[in-house]
Amino acid sequence: MTITSKLPDVGTSIFTVMSTLAAEHSAVNLSQGFPDFDTPPALIDRVFAHMRAGRNQYAPMQGVAMLRERIAAKVADLYGNPVDPDTEITITSGATEALFAAITAVVRPGDEVVVFEPAFDAYVPAIRLNGGTPVYLSMKKPDYHIDWDEVSDAIGPNTRLIIINSPHNPTGTVLSPANIAALKQIVADRDIFIVSDEVYEHIIFDGLVHESVLRDPLLYAKSFVVSSFGKTYHTTGWKIGYCVAPPPLTRELQRVHQFLTFASNTPIQWAYADIMEDASLYLGLSVFYQKKRDRFLSLLENSRFKPLPCHGTYFQMMDYSAISDLDDVAFARQMTTVHKVAAIPPSVFYHDGQDNRVLRFCFAKRDHTLEQAAEILCRI
Ligand code: PMP
Ligand code: GLN
Repeated sequence: MTITSKLPDVGTSIFTVMSTLAAEHSAVNLSQGFPDFDTPPALIDRVFAHMRAGRNQYAPMQGVAMLRERIAAKVADLYGNPVDPDTEITITSGATEALFAAITAVVRPGDEVVVFEPAFDAYVPAIRLNGGTPVYLSMKKPDYHIDWDEVSDAIGPNTRLIIINSPHNPTGTVLSPANIAALKQIVADRDIFIVSDEVYEHIIFDGLVHESVLRDPLLYAKSFVVSSFGKTYHTTGWKIGYCVAPPPLTRELQRVHQFLTFASNTPIQWAYADIMEDASLYLGLSVFYQKKRDRFLSLLENSRFKPLPCHGTYFQMMDYSAISDLDDVAFARQMTTVHKVAAIPPSVFYHDGQDNRVLRFCFAKRDHTLEQAAEILCRI
């Protein structure tokens, strides 16, 4: 038997490649985005408590009701949108599942989907598996902004979906109110859906405010808004996320979700519901990570790496053009194997491998790890 691949050009994800290489070479791993510190013990205690209380069978398909209620309360508080927990919220197995389900719910063969590059690696395979065609637009350096005239020009009769991501992985840029207004104008009279990847909604710096599409009723009417508990509670390995979308969109998303995973981990959903009662945990996250960003930047002040602006996420882009002429993949490999600090080469987030001589460093790390990495980086 031979199998004709549906994704023949897709290899192993860069996150796996770099984390494996980092482990093989005992390098400090600032590549794949995950914290090297633990989640609050209280959250782990809650998971155990729910397991012991017998909450070990299938959760409801759309997610544990209490958790959906807490999310609805948060969305109303933070974004002023009174979403209905029963008809507008779905708990998924990570934001990755929510993205796949949302894209699958709307993209049909022949549809075009606008994707901004550099783009998180989960979007394009989902588009292609559904027979869609990605329309790639490059964010403009040095601040990686979106050229909205270019977006307008890229829209055609087959445009079905636009995928946005703010705060943005890997660049750390965030969408401003003007960006949201421009997006709104473009989709206003058109049948175009939006997938808004907001997994870093609680990690935003420098006094900026997260401009969720949930804030705007007209945009929300067309949107699947995706978030992730993994980023917010330092639990990337637990893989629980969610999607907020208006009832007709949620219905379609759940048609996919119920056959993709049916339901997500029960005791963990209950535990998140408990811990969400304390809003200070997510409201304090920006301050927590801004300190880490600032510490990382000050440790690297005297290095030859030049930081690019980072206003959100836990990633810092660094220009290394003063250090090496190697392309970013080769340089990331050399850094890992020779210098023993691993980072992500952002060219892999472009369909054409656009290389800007920058690397992405994850600063969701203990101070000691950041110091260890910086000590090496300052010598390169
Ligand atoms: N979107 C972006 C932009 C991300 O960085 C991540 C984290 N890898 C995800 C989605 C996926 O989140 P999850 O781990 O909850 O599936
Ligand atoms: N979101 C994380 C990152 O950007 C990792 C995602 C993954 O490993 N699939 O590094």
